[in-house]
Amino acid sequence: MKALIFDNRLYFSNTYPVPLLKENQALIKIRMAGICATDMEILKGYRGFKGVPGHEFVGIVEKIKGEKQTLLGRRVAGEINCVCGKCGYCRKGLKNHCSRRTVPGIAGRDGVFAEYLTLPLENLHEVPANLADEEAVFTEPLAAAFEILEQVRVKGDDRILILGDGKLGILCSLVLRRVSSSILLAGKHPEKLDIVKKQNIAWTLIDKLHLRKEYDIVVDATGAPEGLQKALEFVKPRGTVVMKTTVEKSASMNLSSIVINEINVVGSRCGPFEPAIRALADGEIDVKPLITEIIPFSKWKRAFARARDRDSLKVILDMREKGEINA
Ligand SMILES: [Zn+2]
Ligand SMILES: [Zn+2]
Repeated sequence: MKALIFDNRLYFSNTYPVPLLKENQALIKIRMAGICATDMEILKGYRGFKGVPGHEFVGIVEKIKGEKQTLLGRRVAGEINCVCGKCGYCRKGLKNHCSRRTVPGIAGRDGVFAEYLTLPLENLHEVPANLADEEAVFTEPLAAAFEILEQVRVKGDDRILILGDGKLGILCSLVLRRVSSSILLAGKHPEKLDIVKKQNIAWTLIDKLHLRKEYDIVVDATGAPEGLQKALEFVKPRGTVVMKTTVEKSASMNLSSIVINEINVVGSRCGPFEPAIRALADGEIDVKPLITEIIPFSKWKRAFARARDRDSLKVILDMREKGEINA
């Protein structure tokens, strides 16, 4: 099959083996795949991953091994944590923390920048017919934004600051706006911030932020190792900092303000798919303005270059091309 492979460098193959279908798994033909900031970190060596990268997708179930055949032929999005079902975390319902988990394109399992992917049946969610492929690829990152609501009790009058105007920062602001009337998104790119302005979210440049220690909740979605330090400058005593940044680099910082101001620091990763799909399908969250470009798989080099551009938000690979690709 056609696939992109990362092994110290990213390259293309027309003859990569189709993944082997195991019991209670589905073979999914990928229709579209989103390029995410985590993928760009993987290409820098984050987590030492080797294989097919990519984890945001929408596709069609072509084969199922197991009894539950109901999803055959259906269009699906998929949760990315593939779990053992037996360890202590799995038994407590904390599957995303399974000690034996694999994650497509991130840890121990081939990802979605390929014609085919296998995933456990339990990970799949059918995509409603009214949702376009290019919207459905946002399910996974939007679910990650919804995870904040699973972890933090947000009150309607909480003042919330989101740092970072990348995809995840914007998605977090769109989710949090549903539960709080005071949302401010701070970033460095006026052209990206303009997108949220059109969706009626207040924004500012990070350099212009002045209200220190004023926010009940600060979300760090900067994607920068210094993001936590910035978040600590703006959160109130006894407030909450939600950390969404995962980067390969690290930063040294003084953490004493966490102690002095008794700050709650919450790490936050993958989230629930159901509310994300519902919000997309009901039109409550509009992700279309976040699409920078949809690029055919054969032009993958251009797609990754575009994803690196300063003004770029979501670049989507269209995987539906037929035949061999000369790439
Ligand atoms: Zn992602
Ligand atoms: Zn487990």
